[in-house]
Amino acid sequence: MAANKKLLVLPGDGIGPEVMRETIRVIDWMDRKRRASFDLQDDLVGGAAIDQKGTPITEETVARAKAADAVLFGSVGGPKWEKLGFDMRPELSILTLRRELGLFANLRPAIVLDPLVNASTLKPEVVQGLDIMIVRESTGGIYFGEPRGIETLADGSQRGINTEVYTTMEIERVARVGFELARKRQSRVCSVEKANVMESGLLWRQVVTRLAAAEYPDIALSHMYADNCAMQLVRNPRQFDVIVTGNLFGDILSDLASMLTGSLGMLPSATLGAPDASGRRHALYEPIHGSAPDIAGKGVANPLAQMLSFAMLLRYSFDMEEDAALIEKACTNVLASGLRTPDVMAPGCAKVGTTVMGEAVLRELDKLAT
Ligand code: NAD
Repeated sequence: MAANKKLLVLPGDGIGPEVMRETIRVIDWMDRKRRASFDLQDDLVGGAAIDQKGTPITEETVARAKAADAVLFGSVGGPKWEKLGFDMRPELSILTLRRELGLFANLRPAIVLDPLVNASTLKPEVVQGLDIMIVRESTGGIYFGEPRGIETLADGSQRGINTEVYTTMEIERVARVGFELARKRQSRVCSVEKANVMESGLLWRQVVTRLAAAEYPDIALSHMYADNCAMQLVRNPRQFDVIVTGNLFGDILSDLASMLTGSLGMLPSATLGAPDASGRRHALYEPIHGSAPDIAGKGVANPLAQMLSFAMLLRYSFDMEEDAALIEKACTNVLASGLRTPDVMAPGCAKVGTTVMGEAVLRELDKLAT
């Protein structure tokens, strides 16, 4: 068995601790079955950290995240902290981690599992078997570009300004993540921008094209304008394998793609930094859903997105493809057996809560591993 892997676990607020509890049981299962051994540390973030430490994330927590091999994050926020000033928002914890760990590539898979094909608002024949990966640049572009602000003009009216900026280095490093991922999938990358109306988009297209020719001749690269991509994602989403795009378009397209699957409680994500000389990279894994205050404490949250985030952690931080696939298969089989949390409930299925769902996944893991 490989040396212990250091994980920092940050459950956060609302349903975060509830779904994390079930995921820890999966991690313990891996330990028990001697498939992998983990050193787990946990800590407070978000509203929980504000309440106990007076800040959404402490410097010690950031230092622990830097020292860990990977961070498993729950979700943060809730009505209790909504009225606090901007520098006291629970969401600052995740923004701080992204910045401090240099996490620039956000990976959002949109996968339609067979048992949930009817959960999508699109027709089953359009989404059945869907498996796409959106790679969104997440530390640059228009959300961070300067100049920005709201200024008052001579006539007293105002002007709001944001600036889309991308450098060669920023484009290359995120495109590289997309190309590397595609090599382990169907070897197809679609690069998305608005090169027809934006210079930053034109540079994006040139840099991605050059990189593909120089380093990834085995990958089939295509280009698409972002507006067309939105349309194609709804019209025929299965045409895509890996999509690589900037921060703004990625924000919108990844939300759109996640809804093709129809179930927020099912969707994991990863955010990766650049590899160092030894190949080690900072990485954070979290479900895409928030802290769901409307159902927190009721024991009904779907724990699968958090568990699937752990599966991504195994795949991308530790190259443990077989174990990642095992967890994914266990989750799919439990759904196929007809057990459902309320968010993915369907006629003829049995409605269960968070803990029963977690136990069912553990039983399925036992079955699959024998
Ligand atoms: P949300 O994702 O928390 O909830 C949206 C809806 O989906 C709710 O009806 C909720 O009950 C349901 N839902 C979400 N996850 C579920 C699960 N695992 N099982 C069953 N149902 C689930 O989004 P929101 O309501 O807009 O935000 C609530 C809080 O979460 C806010 O404070 C927001 O800022 C925060 N938030 C945090 C993150 C994060 O931590 N990364 C992401 C999004 C929102």
